[in-house]
Formats: sequence, structure tokens, C-alpha cells
Amino acid sequence: MENINGKIGVTTENIFPVIKQFLYSDHEIFLRELVANAVDASQKLKALAGAGEFSGEYGDLKVEVALDEDNKVLTITDHGIGMTAEEVDRYINQIAFSSAGEFLEKYKDQNIIGHFGLGFYSAFMVASKVTIDTLSWKEGATAVKWSCDGTPSFEMGEGEKAERGTTITLFLDEDAEEFAHKGRISALLQKYCKFMPVPVVFGKKTEWKDGKEVETEEDNVINNIDPIWTKAPSELKDEDYLNFYKALYPMEEDPMFWIHLNVDYPFNLTGVLYFPKIKERMAIDKNKIQLYCNQMFVTEHVDNIVPDFLTLLHGVIDSPDIPLNVSRSYLQSDSNVKKISTYITKKVADRLEDIFKTEREQYEQKWDNIKLFIEYGMLSDEKFRERAMNFALLKNTEGKFFSLEDYRKCIEGNQTDKDGNVVYLYATDKDAQFSFIEAAKNKGYDVLMMDCELDSHFVNLLESNVEKSRWARVDSDSVENLIVKEEKIKPELSEDDKKALDEMFKSVLPEGNEYNVEAENLGAESAAVLLTKNEFMRRYREMSALGGGLNFYGSIPESYKVIVNMENPLIAKIWADREGSKELLSQVVDLALLSNGMLKGKALADFIQRSENLLK
Ligand code: ADP
Repeated sequence: MENINGKIGVTTENIFPVIKQFLYSDHEIFLRELVANAVDASQKLKALAGAGEFSGEYGDLKVEVALDEDNKVLTITDHGIGMTAEEVDRYINQIAFSSAGEFLEKYKDQNIIGHFGLGFYSAFMVASKVTIDTLSWKEGATAVKWSCDGTPSFEMGEGEKAERGTTITLFLDEDAEEFAHKGRISALLQKYCKFMPVPVVFGKKTEWKDGKEVETEEDNVINNIDPIWTKAPSELKDEDYLNFYKALYPMEEDPMFWIHLNVDYPFNLTGVLYFPKIKERMAIDKNKIQLYCNQMFVTEHVDNIVPDFLTLLHGVIDSPDIPLNVSRSYLQSDSNVKKISTYITKKVADRLEDIFKTEREQYEQKWDNIKLFIEYGMLSDEKFRERAMNFALLKNTEGKFFSLEDYRKCIEGNQTDKDGNVVYLYATDKDAQFSFIEAAKNKGYDVLMMDCELDSHFVNLLESNVEKSRWARVDSDSVENLIVKEEKIKPELSEDDKKALDEMFKSVLPEGNEYNVEAENLGAESAAVLLTKNEFMRRYREMSALGGGLNFYGSIPESYKVIVNMENPLIAKIWADREGSKELLSQVVDLALLSNGMLKGKALADFIQRSENLLK
């Protein structure tokens, strides 16, 4: 074989500096690319043997990574199919990207998923010189040696390799010295090669002997070649899923349940998704799903591939059908990605519905932990919402759970107002709204607990998706007004009396808020004064605090409706002797403030003092 010198088939003289510059942030992926090529070559040999084309012994197909720290030389050796001179010329010299211009175009967007497709040439991100020693599996093949020092010129000639397969040698560049450390290479292999389908070996296992770390005879295999997602669910026990979870996330508590994904038409996708235990509701880890492509790690950023709410899940997705050499923004419009996202959403809904139907008790027990996830899903994904209307739960103040349908049946009639709307009463704080909750219960009404971050949005969602329903927080009005059964007769007051009542109460109410004083007949047994907050104003205020873009509502003063119960004997007394009952007036207003948790500091101290005086 003749020695040849030549130029690699790119049109620009300086493709290598370009490679370095453009992929600066992700130099480390060179190792994944080279190991992946080695794994590929090994699997191709297996496939050839399987097809009867290769009849020899294929032996141990492990891929070996070795590092000479002193000389800063890294080698990746496989025992795969190798390459003939003609193949090196075709696959390496006439490199994959046909022109530097196209290459630049492709990589100028740094958001390319996992920088896939760069392949062999990514070696030049870290090496000043790269050699290939290869011997093809084909009978009578001659070994080939190829080398290139980072300019577009290469040398190629007959090599000395006696064993079938390929060794790639990287002479690490000065500015890539970080990769000349075993610890770093080991960490990278862990990150990128942990589940590759052919054993990847990095040196020998070590053990402690006489206080020293010594090498053993045993290969240090980095990867698990058949992770659970590659197996059939029927082969697996709960324990296998839990162990795999522990291996992926050693610091996490056990997950609540999982879904095994497995589809081969119209796209290929496997994986296992776990529902983590959500403890601190706001401190949720997103981006814990790992994306693989044929067992090769790609990224932990699956946003744009799965719907946003599913990024709360943990686990692994493996699909060769997710385009990896496109920008993230392009991904969302890719039809495969859309199908994949729809499929995963459906699978998650199927699984939840299944647990809801067959393990209701367990489902209820876990509800508090999955509620946020389901509500988030319902708020952000229409398809999921349609499904989840069947398995979302409501919890009342007594801790009892209901499906949406069951709850409706429970309260229909009893909590239907004169206009035919079913009124859902809810509380967000059991203690602060205690007296309102009690008042509703005394009327025979049920009160739901809605104390999650997303509940104000969720209440809006339910209200607009459940026909003839109205939601009201228990403290948003007197219970008589929350569910109006028949048109009530309001106390008859002259304009002057109304004005007098208004001034009287405003004179003792705390400053800084807006008040709207209204006289009503709530019965002798009901409280003298109620301070309520308008349902809609409050909801919008809460939603704007969560960042719903309705900030206008956040900047206006709190406004309360002050309901004066004219039928209460204390009010009757105050109203009859306005001058003489100033203390009593302050007292009933303070009692209303107190039951709302609004009496604080000096006002509270004054109230206590006045109460003692009144008792004396
Ligand atoms: P890709 O792997 O995306 O095709 P690469 O630039 O990494 O692109 O490699 C180009 C080609 O070179 C491969 O498709 C393969 O045919 C060949 N090749 C690379 N590495 C090896 C190897 N270790 N053994 C055999 N062939 C290889």
C-alpha cells in the first residue's frame, strides 16, 4: 500500500480552529462521540455475525479507554469491524459535513441538542494530533494508520495493527489538559457512557490493601449494558424499578410510582418515568429526566420534548427518533417530537387513571404529593386536563376525598343557589377562616380545602370547565350570601341612616383598607359583624402574586365588605344608642377583625384592655 498525503475534504483551511471555537462550551462530548463510534463498530460486528456474514470468533467486544496522564495521551480501542483504507478515505477523509459553510450554519446555534452528529472530528476540540490504527474484519484486510495534526492535511499508510478493530489515539492539546486526569475521564464516562450497550472499560478495579489503593486484575467496567428500560415490563419486579431509581438518584426518597414506556410505532421510544415524592412544594427539581439515544446519554434538558408539567417527573427516555442535531426551538415543531410528547402525556394519564380506579386508597394517600403535578398538568395541557377531570381529587376540610363527579353529586341540590348554580365552598386556611368554615357547616354545607400554590388558578379552571358551577371562598361573604336560596329582604334604611352606619363603622375600622359597609339581616344567632373579601378581587390578586401578568390588582388597597347584621341583638343595641355604645361598637368590630386574624399589635392590646373593662 502506498503512503498518501492529502487534504481533508472541507473547503476552508481552518476547520479545526472553527470546531474548537464553536463548540467551546461542550468540549467534553468528544469522549461520548468516540466511545459511541467504538460501540457502534462493535455492534456492527455482532450484527454481521448474526447475519452469518462474519463467521470468526468475535471474542470480547469490550471498548477500552486508557489514559497516559504523563504524556497526555488518551486512547479508545474497540474490537469491532475496523476500517479498510478505502473506508477510512470514504468515512474519515471525505468528512460527514460536506463543506465548512454548512458546518458553521449547523453549529452556530449553540442550542443544538447534545451537539450530535459531530462525531469523530470532535476529537480535534481537545487534541493537537489524532491517529487512527485500524484493521478491518474483512478477510485479507491490511492494517491502516491515519494521522492528522489539526490542519486539514492528513497522512495515511499501512499500519501495524494486528488485532481486528480500531484504536483512536488523542494527543491532548495544551489547552485541554483538564482531560489528562483519570478522575475527569472517569467522571465523563460515568456521565455519558453509563448505559451504553457494549462494556466500556477504563483501567482495572482498585481495592484497599495494607492501607494502599492497589489495582486488581478485574476490568473496571463503567456501564450497565442492559438497563431496565431495555427490558420487557413483564421481566421486572418493583424492586428492579426502585433499584434503578436509586442508581439514578442516590439522594432521593423512593418514588411513588412509575410508568414503563415502550412503543415502536409510529416512532421508537422506551423509558421509565417516575413520580418523585414532592416534599417542598416550591423547591421542585425540574430537569431530572435523562434523554438517551440508543443507550447513549444525550442531555438532561428534555424541555421542548416532553410537556412542561412532565419535566417534574424523573427517569429516562430513550429514543432514536428525537432529532438531536437541530436547535431546541426547532424541536417543538418537529412532528415526531409532537407525537412523542402526546404519547407520553397519554401514558401518564393512563397510569394515573389506572391507579385511581384500582388502588383508590393508595391513590388518596398519595394525593397530597401528586396534587401539584396533576393540577399543573391540567392547567398547562389541554389533553391532560380532559383526562384528569376523571381522576383529579377534591379534599374537604375533614380530609375526605372525592372525584369531581362524586363531589358534584354530593352537593348538588343542597348547595344549589336560586339561579341553579352549584356553589363549591372552599377554604385556604383552616385556622384563619375557622369561623366561616363553621358557619357554613352549621348550614349543612360542605367546605373544600384548597391550600396549594396553584389552587387559585385551579379554582378558575374548574369553574370554567364544570358547567353551572361557582366557586366561593368561605370568607368571601356571609354564608347566606354565598349560596343565595331566595331573594332576601334587606333591612330598610333611609339614605341618612345608611350614611350614619357607614361613618360609624369606618370610624373604628383600621386605616389603609377600603370598606364597603352594608346592613343585612342574617338572623339573631349570626355574628354581629362580618368582614369579607370579594372572591374575584382576591383571586386575581393571588394569581398576580403567582405571576399571572395581572399586576394591576396587586397594587390597589385591600377592600372588604363590612356586613352589619341588623338582627343581631348587639347591633340593635348599638344602633338604638349610638352615642352611648361607642365601646360596644369597637368591641364588635374588633371581634370581626379577630376572627379574620386581622387584629394585631396595639389594636390587639387595646382590645384586650377593653374586654377586661367590659367584664369588670
Ligand atoms: P457518524 O458516527 O455520525 O457516522 P463520525 O464522523 O463519527 O460520524 O464517523 C464517520 C464514520 O467513520 C462512521 O460512520 C464509521 O463508518 C466510521 N468510524 C468511525 N469510528 C469508527 C470505529 N471506531 N470503527 C469503525 N468505523 C468507524
